[in-house]
Amino acid sequence: LKKKAKVYGKTAKPTKKAAVLGAGIMGGGIAYQSALKGTPIMMKDIAEAGIELGLSEANKLLAKRVEKKRMKPLEMGDVLNRIRPTLSYAEFNDVDTVVEAVVENPKVKKMVLAELEDKVREETIITSNTSTISIDLLAADLKRPENFLGMHFFNPVHMMPLVEIIRGKKTSEEAVATVVAYATAMGKTPIVVNDCPGFLVNRVLFPYFAGFAGLLRDGADFQAVDKVMEKFGFPMGPAYLLDVVGIDTGVHANEVMAEGFPDRMKADFKSAMEVMYENKRYGQKNGVGFYKYE
Ligand code: NAD
Repeated sequence: LKKKAKVYGKTAKPTKKAAVLGAGIMGGGIAYQSALKGTPIMMKDIAEAGIELGLSEANKLLAKRVEKKRMKPLEMGDVLNRIRPTLSYAEFNDVDTVVEAVVENPKVKKMVLAELEDKVREETIITSNTSTISIDLLAADLKRPENFLGMHFFNPVHMMPLVEIIRGKKTSEEAVATVVAYATAMGKTPIVVNDCPGFLVNRVLFPYFAGFAGLLRDGADFQAVDKVMEKFGFPMGPAYLLDVVGIDTGVHANEVMAEGFPDRMKADFKSAMEVMYENKRYGQKNGVGFYKYE
């Protein structure tokens, strides 16, 4: 399938070497999953600390696999060798597919994507793991928008099967086929969706978070809401989920949704999440959000 995937009759180009920009929660997870399933991947960040975090996460996940006897200890090294940490664009000239996973900020993403386009070959497929930002908006100043699309993984990457493949107005069908094939090779279930802020999943999820913010504004206790939503059948409640996502990422993504759907998503009050963001309570990534983490 990796080599032969066809979408709308178009044949995919194989991804023999990938790259991810940003080694945070998502970038680290994407690098791990790609390497685990056999595709070598460059993992670039601007901070040494980011790279170390990405690698230590991959190490932890692999150690767990060995412990559960799902992998031989010797194979662990092979997987880690397929992740190539870097702070530079050297060795990007033979990359087939890139996933941009830096902070959820349109200006930063546009800057990073423009820089990246000059470092890779013309035929390289560039994707963004953005949670909410329109693909057409990110593509607006690119030289090769036909090679650009969304590849939206979910958190934690190694556990969540779904990947949204977001087709922009100018994205070529070959590019869609290539990214569908890469997602499949990573063991994921790709769905192709059209472009709009939040795509499919986050158009459902962010109104839910907005409902939660409203409950908190009205005086609800976040732990009680979490317990109720678990009893309702969700694997976790909204407060815990926001801690997993990252309060900073959640707030940035919510801003994009509010701009895209002002009638439904613009709140007339400051949310608990915005206050937490100002106080640098980012969730699991820095040890304190709604809950505290060791
Ligand atoms: P994060 O804060 O954990 O990581 C971001 C990383 O990007 C950091 O390591 C930072 O140093 C790095 N970075 C910043 N500028 C960079 C640059 N110019 N070049 C290379 N690296 C750079 O964030 P995250 O949660 O991994 O989110 C990354 C992207 O994935 C965002 O667009 C987010 O919306 C999206 N996303 C997040 C989730 C989630 O649950 N956290 C889920 C799906 C998608």
